[in-house]
Amino acid sequence: MPAPNSTFPDVIASGIQPSGALHLGNYFGALRQHIALGNDETRRDEAYYFIVNYHALTSVRDAEALKSYTFDVALDYLALGFDPNKANLFLQSDVPQVVELAWILLCLTPVSQLEKGVAFKDKVAQGMSSNSGLFTYPILQAADILIYGGTRVPVGADQKQNIEISRNLAQMFNRTFCEDDEPIFPIPEPLILEDVAVVPGTDGQKMSKSYGNTIGIFDEGNVLKKSVMSIVTDSTPLEEPKDPETDNAFALIKLFADDAKREEIASAYRAGGFGYGHAKKELLRMIDDYFAEARERRKNLAERPDYILDVLRQGGEAGLKKAEQLMQPVRERVGLLTTK
Ligand code: ADP
Repeated sequence: MPAPNSTFPDVIASGIQPSGALHLGNYFGALRQHIALGNDETRRDEAYYFIVNYHALTSVRDAEALKSYTFDVALDYLALGFDPNKANLFLQSDVPQVVELAWILLCLTPVSQLEKGVAFKDKVAQGMSSNSGLFTYPILQAADILIYGGTRVPVGADQKQNIEISRNLAQMFNRTFCEDDEPIFPIPEPLILEDVAVVPGTDGQKMSKSYGNTIGIFDEGNVLKKSVMSIVTDSTPLEEPKDPETDNAFALIKLFADDAKREEIASAYRAGGFGYGHAKKELLRMIDDYFAEARERRKNLAERPDYILDVLRQGGEAGLKKAEQLMQPVRERVGLLTTK
């Protein structure tokens, strides 16, 4: 009994983890879309973007670091052009009902489904501790989306499987606890930009805060230079022709370059006489140009911490209101007796 989404309002919901500095994968996979959707004047829907600090507890064990990463994500969004008057930006932990819903959803989730989780297996393979939070991460993510009645979820291509879990859980909850004609949850659709595959990190794996292979959106100077120069390439000598499509530096160049520039650099690869060092220098210049204005804005915003906290507070109030509206029928349907 899939719920016909047309009976629900259009709601955008998406989260980002404050487990380290945001990177180019986060930007091209998610943030850029979040900002563009919010600034689209024709948009009629509601939009909820949350900084998932409960999720970050799966990897961060330093309270001060977590607080500072969390604040910095908000700073990054605003510096990159997110308009808080058009969409809500807030802290996951300002809506603790998501943890309540996550528990209810956990009780519907077969262990075997989580055991198939690719993201979990990858993270453990990369050396992260296999705590239960990491294992059940997609369920908290499902709660995050479903609690706002999310119908569209702008995410990177790495999130396909997790959004599938959210869809299954929405269907399973509706089937188990709702009448056919009165589903509680719409079935969320992932919104994935086709031209951005998973953005590779400096080692060629998926760029991720958890893997130590990132290029930070706001890295500058020597820090930026060091990470760009560390991008892994093959050992084809400078003078020989190279295939741009198999090169990690070119995969990043593609994200910044317009069609003409992309073709020009690809031809230089194929012609030979153009080394990976040249490609990395081009990339460095492109990153510096692309983020120049945002870097300035970020420096100014960093001096207004009260403003940042106000934005988060107001977003959190909107999120809390929406979540509580949804949780009341959920508690009722699953049979949690209430004394209030
Ligand atoms: P991380 O893996 O760095 O912790 P998150 O899990 O917080 O990233 O993801 C936040 C958003 O950024 C998600 O929508 C995710 O799809 C997107 N994202 C993260 N890494 C990448 C990547 N390497 N390529 C494309 N999108 C990505």
